[in-house]
Amino acid sequence: MNPFLNTPIEYLKGVGPARGELLKKELQIFTFNDLLFHFPYRHIDRSKTYKINEIGADMPYIQIKGILSNLRTVGPIGQQRLVAELHDGTGTIELVWFQGHKWVKEALKPSKVYLVFGKPSEFNGSYSIIHPNMDDPDDIETKKYLHIMPLYSVTEKMRARGLDSRVMMKLVNTLLLDTRFSVEENLPEPLCVQQKLMNRQHALQSIHFPQNVTELANAEYRLKFEEFFFIQLRLLRFKMKRTQLVNGIKLEYIGKLFNAFYNDCLPFELTNAQKKVIKEIRIDVKKGIQMNRLVQGDVGSGKTVVALMSMLMAIDNGYQACMMAPTEILATQHLETVTHLLKKLPVTVKLLRGATGAKERRIIHEQLESGELDILIGTHALIESKVKFKNLGMAIIDEQHRFGVEQRSKLWQKNKFPPHVLVMTATPIPRTLAMTLYGDLDTSVIDEMPAGRKPIQTLMRYDSSRLAIFGFLKNEIAKGRQVYIVYPLIEESETLTFKNLVEGYESICKEFPEPKYQVSILHGRLKAKEKAFEMNRFVKGETQIMVATTVIEVGVNIPNASVMVIESAQKFGLSQLHQLRGRVGRGADQSYCILMSDMKLTTEAKQRLKAMCETNDGFKIAEMDLKLRGPGELEGTAQSGILDLKIADLAKDTNILVLARQTAQEVLNEDPELKLEQNKLLAYHYALYRKTAKWGRIS
Ligand code: ADP
Ligand code: MG
Repeated sequence: MNPFLNTPIEYLKGVGPARGELLKKELQIFTFNDLLFHFPYRHIDRSKTYKINEIGADMPYIQIKGILSNLRTVGPIGQQRLVAELHDGTGTIELVWFQGHKWVKEALKPSKVYLVFGKPSEFNGSYSIIHPNMDDPDDIETKKYLHIMPLYSVTEKMRARGLDSRVMMKLVNTLLLDTRFSVEENLPEPLCVQQKLMNRQHALQSIHFPQNVTELANAEYRLKFEEFFFIQLRLLRFKMKRTQLVNGIKLEYIGKLFNAFYNDCLPFELTNAQKKVIKEIRIDVKKGIQMNRLVQGDVGSGKTVVALMSMLMAIDNGYQACMMAPTEILATQHLETVTHLLKKLPVTVKLLRGATGAKERRIIHEQLESGELDILIGTHALIESKVKFKNLGMAIIDEQHRFGVEQRSKLWQKNKFPPHVLVMTATPIPRTLAMTLYGDLDTSVIDEMPAGRKPIQTLMRYDSSRLAIFGFLKNEIAKGRQVYIVYPLIEESETLTFKNLVEGYESICKEFPEPKYQVSILHGRLKAKEKAFEMNRFVKGETQIMVATTVIEVGVNIPNASVMVIESAQKFGLSQLHQLRGRVGRGADQSYCILMSDMKLTTEAKQRLKAMCETNDGFKIAEMDLKLRGPGELEGTAQSGILDLKIADLAKDTNILVLARQTAQEVLNEDPELKLEQNKLLAYHYALYRKTAKWGRIS
């Protein structure tokens, strides 16, 4: 890299030690290069100037020109603000500053003409602009920016000390105009030509100060492509290394157990999708290369049996298998399902969880090390270092989004050779996210539901129709069905929401009195034993209603439960609502999901609930969730550094991502080690990138 760009930021003209400190603290801008990569969050068109009497409500950012007067500080000490008036002969508008008055007051001159830029707001029929940009119309620099001006994000602290977007713009400009400024290309020229990419230096200049909108679009495209390209190069190299270098366990035989299970134990015909995925796994595990496969399948699509049959492949070849679930309830349920399905076969299955006693634990450890135990099911307890397998051949991670990257990678260290890893997720992930989060994994999709399922009917109801809903629930219970009532208790420790749950439970108990009705309650404050007890009563059908928090969210399978009422549904994210809804609709009966809310809903909340009513398709819902909330908010993705994208947007830039991945693959196909002359620059920048990128290990 050009050493000039590594210069500490305080040495830039206009920065100095004080602003330098501020830039480091507030925006993590340490060097010239960091400033260069502090891209504007948007640009605004300043080519038109409005008259004050043309200003109307709901106008976006606009520019006006007028004379400044009546500059004064008002308000009590501690809440002071600076106000001024601007008039242009057609009218007057008020300008207001809450922060950084001192700086603004010093800089502004009364009776002078200013170009003012900002978003007008209306109060009692008159307009004002809060924190306007103030420019001298004769300033040559200002003229240069007038067409398309960048806006930079700054923090409140920065603004209070006079370091606003406007100053940031000047600093970037100073940097770009320096004669020593230059940026190296980091993509091979043929690639740039083929993909019609703007060269890097030009793009980095234009992303700040474009001449016109086309130039801005081209610069954005180039930088987004570059960002995706390096991520994908990394992921694909990861994958290549794994498939070329890592010695995998070869599961050669389809043996007795697998066949016996398929022929004699399966209680149903596999769906074609299940068969397809099992075949994909089968092909992987006999190659002698470690499998790393993600199985995506909507809730209820039948992932458990796919996991089970994969474990049998390992056992048939003399290896052990394990299955990891995010909660004790789920692990217990898996144990029951697996034990039940395997009851005719000579396979030893055990459960290990936090609550497992010392004696039982010792036995499990011994049996694992001797190889006596075939399948171990459990929670996080499985990856404690004390747990040693004789020869782990297959590790299943169910509902993976609850597991951190770190925890997953621990599984690898359990053997001389890494076991095959099957990651199962019921949270459908939008394609772009999957490609980025799991870009080094192979993916299988179970895109078909077992036959005979009726789509769940989802309805939106306001609190006012509660009575009618109770009536409906009574009808369903009379038919022998069971009901979930879910409360949003996001922070389990939060006393207020907990109170809501308890009150809800009490009012349900009143409405559905014993002995005719039995009501269970389940929440995070209960001890594991109590949880299991309540859950069991519901599973066995001893209680008809389960009042619960989101602890029932993942995986729990009770086919007889056909109604779910979600209280304050507006407080849940889309993917979470979909997860919850997946608890019903698992049997042959018509199932219902009722989304309760009060009348005061934000537009976004309304959109979310409406989407839930319109589709049962988890992938569509995931796409919509990504669009509404952005990738950072999606469950389980926040901790991954990969999603700290500077410019590209996983919700909007799908096409660029697909192209970047494809291009990266082509480059690696031709030159896996990046050794060719034409890829020299690329290799250099790739090494740089690997060093600097925040990069959570993915699997
Ligand atoms: P998930 O994919 O959400 O983990 P499960 O594996 O728990 O789904 O399966 C949901 C229900 O569907 C279970 O009761 C299971 O026995 C049943 N099931 C799975 N596959 C089939 C199939 N091919 N035909 C009929 N029922 C099936
Ligand atoms: Mg499951």
